[in-house]
Amino acid sequence: MEDRLANTLVIYNTEQYKFPIMWNNYIIEMNLRRFIRLLTRTQGLEKFLNLNRNWRYRLLDVKWEIVFSYINKQVIGETTYKTDKFICKQKRMKIQRLIEEIPTIEQMKKSSYEIYQDFKCVFCYKKKEDFHHVWTCRHNRKILKQIIKRTIDKLIRLLKEYGATVDENKILTDINKFDIFFPKFRKDKFNFIDLIKGIFPKQLYDYIEKLEVIGKKNIVSLGTELLQYVMDETKQHIWLPRCEKLKIIEKRHGITEKDKKKSDSNVGKEKQEDILQRPINLFGRYEDLEGVKEYILFGKEILDFTVVVNRVGKI
Ligand SMILES: [Zn+2]
Repeated sequence: MEDRLANTLVIYNTEQYKFPIMWNNYIIEMNLRRFIRLLTRTQGLEKFLNLNRNWRYRLLDVKWEIVFSYINKQVIGETTYKTDKFICKQKRMKIQRLIEEIPTIEQMKKSSYEIYQDFKCVFCYKKKEDFHHVWTCRHNRKILKQIIKRTIDKLIRLLKEYGATVDENKILTDINKFDIFFPKFRKDKFNFIDLIKGIFPKQLYDYIEKLEVIGKKNIVSLGTELLQYVMDETKQHIWLPRCEKLKIIEKRHGITEKDKKKSDSNVGKEKQEDILQRPINLFGRYEDLEGVKEYILFGKEILDFTVVVNRVGKI
């Protein structure tokens, strides 16, 4: 009986491959299961890159391998003792930054409009507090510049730790030229806000690679450590003080935790507009990021593949 079943399966498989498998008039040469996975993941990558805030990364070259290593990094020495909850919280925070959805006042207006409608930045009281403003507010300008300086020092320390023996002054001059250490947001070039988001530019990766003393695997570790450093510094010196300040202001307005959990009853025009941009759930977004993971495995061709999918899809 088992023999017969095995035979049937062999025949079935042979039969199956007698016909070329087609997809939108393209012959699929790769393993079918793998193809379908690639297709799904590519759509995920597309969704991620098509989010308005991510279009820049179609033009700017990102070293995604380091971005993912950083997001999934567990704090060394703490993994065994700290609970999963802590790791989960860290990861959640990193993803929130990557998709620019940390709970800024503008972000909170999407769920608690009635409470926050008149709130502005808790430091300058003038501007709307959105993701970019948190880091670039006038009040934080000096602090941010100090963080950038410390980040560059950290990078030099890491390069030395990983075995680079190049002249420090030369490295400093080179590094200062990189777009990624620019303190203000620019659409068409990398800047420090990208590093805060956990984005690692290929430009910096290539520079380290050209020093020819640090292996590829170690550059990924170095990059991961650098991103973690930026995360910790900006959290400690900008984000946490901001949260403390907001707490005081909320208290002054008599806003309680219970108020924040209440859903809005009055839906105004501004609120309606905001709702249109209301974020879908975080884990859905994270699934889209899986597409980016595939980008790492398959390299740049996946974007060309996307173009084919689009073109064929429209006919
Ligand atoms: Zn401000």
